[in-house]
Amino acid sequence: MEHRVALVTGGSRGIGAAITQRLAAEGMSVLFTYRSSGTAAYEVVDEITRRGGAALAARIDSGAPGAAETAVSTAIERFGGLDVLVNNAGTFDSGELASVGLTEVDHALALHVRAPYLFSQAAARRMRDGGRIITIGSTFADRVPYAGVALYAMTKAAVGGMTRGLARDLGERGITANVVHPGNIDTDMNPASSEEAASELPQIALGQYGAPADIAGAVAFLAGPDGGYVTGATLTVDGGYNA
Ligand code: NDP
Repeated sequence: MEHRVALVTGGSRGIGAAITQRLAAEGMSVLFTYRSSGTAAYEVVDEITRRGGAALAARIDSGAPGAAETAVSTAIERFGGLDVLVNNAGTFDSGELASVGLTEVDHALALHVRAPYLFSQAAARRMRDGGRIITIGSTFADRVPYAGVALYAMTKAAVGGMTRGLARDLGERGITANVVHPGNIDTDMNPASSEEAASELPQIALGQYGAPADIAGAVAFLAGPDGGYVTGATLTVDGGYNA
């Protein structure tokens, strides 16, 4: 297979950093974005470079106008093409229904729905045939286990519909589109050491939090040769949380 290029949004920390590292380990050149964690982004690039891989970080807020075109153009200018897009950047916004305001609604929609759509659209325009679009959702798209997360769950469910539409739009070019729904994954967003984690553990069939590398493995499968006939699908990686 020829040299492949990936774009990962939100690759400075957590799941996005693990995806970036895994795709680089698979031999891809990876451009990843971040919003504010410059030092962490530098460390991801440094580690990949020390292992002989190729990665670059670009400070691009996924919610900002023009973000998708800038990120796609940068990946193509720096690495010569684009084969894989991973829509990962996200935040966990929760709060009592009555207290959620317009700003929070707009922020969540911009980051979790508008950005994956615009990044997918911009990537599809310039991606090579046979490319892959993978969006990181959440198990909350399918089942909401407690109150206060309707906004987050709504945005994460939306990318499922988008992905099935993309699979139809792009199938004739051999481009696949899939969603990975993580369950509880130990990151800054959802630390396995937190008080809340204690109440989550009994609901997880495997009895423990997942690691960012567990999600990166699923993404690598969908981005790699074995995932070529999977499109419009949802892969839940949650240790049986939603079982
Ligand atoms: P983290 O908070 O650990 O990392 C989030 C990453 O997204 C960081 O690299 C951050 O960059 C980046 N990011 C956030 N906002 C923006 C923005 N506006 N523009 C560009 N980059 C941005 O989160 P996780 O790794 O845990 O989550 C990654 C994805 O997985 C999210 O979509 C999340 O909803 C989803 N998920 C996570 C679960 C979990 O249990 N951890 C469960 C289910 C889904 P920076 O630091 O520079 O701001």
